[in-house]
Amino acid sequence: MTSSSNPGPRRAQLERGLSEVRERIELACGDAGRDPDEITLVVVTKNFPVSDVLLLRDLGVRHVGENRDQEAADKVSQMRAQVAPPPIVHFIGRLQSNKAAHVAAYADVVQSVDRHKLLPGLARGAEQAGRRLDVLVQVSLDGDTSRGGVDVGRAAALGDAVDEREALRLKGVMAVAPMGADPDEMFARLREVASGIQADHPEAGWVSAGMSSDLEAGVRHGATHLRVGSAILGSRSPLL
Ligand SMILES: *Cc1c(COP(=O)(O)O)cnc(C)c1O
Repeated sequence: MTSSSNPGPRRAQLERGLSEVRERIELACGDAGRDPDEITLVVVTKNFPVSDVLLLRDLGVRHVGENRDQEAADKVSQMRAQVAPPPIVHFIGRLQSNKAAHVAAYADVVQSVDRHKLLPGLARGAEQAGRRLDVLVQVSLDGDTSRGGVDVGRAAALGDAVDEREALRLKGVMAVAPMGADPDEMFARLREVASGIQADHPEAGWVSAGMSSDLEAGVRHGATHLRVGSAILGSRSPLL
């Protein structure tokens, strides 16, 4: 965690990281013939303190990503007490079914829905909080579902099941390019899955693909959402 006792240099660091990433997005959009306004930048603030989230908010960031329930819940309650309007919170981490209802009560979007077992808890949490929750189906692009994501061949059925729940709104798909794989090949595959789902669910047009190392490939393959952490905030301590 970074000290918040002297926010001046940290603010400048975050501002620089943000402008570098925004420039990369603009260049990639230029190359792909896309409009940068079609793309939502989700700044992944996991492992960084709420003081960074507040600085980012001040620098115009409207979407943040978190991957651990307790950490996310703590930050959200602090943020909501300190800024209006608070950033939109995307949950992007592995989700345990016994935590699903808790996450659904504070997250605005859950991007990492990869099995049917999560749906009752997510729906109950959203209902109890009196809200509808935006959901992305996380797809495993190399078939190794141990790292999260549903198999390509099962993604559409999971999407259908999400859509059947009144409290959940199917918005699209998310994936992480597997380590060592060609992100262009992987995100092309994700785009096919996304198109298949969108054919049945016209509202489900979000494609969350691309992080610090491969955001350009995400843009080339139709990403609507990029999840970028280290290129903006710096490297996360491996101990956290
Ligand atoms: C941490 C994380 C990111 C951000 O990764 P960076 O390489 O720091 O940009 C994106 N997506 C998911 C699912 C993550 O867990």
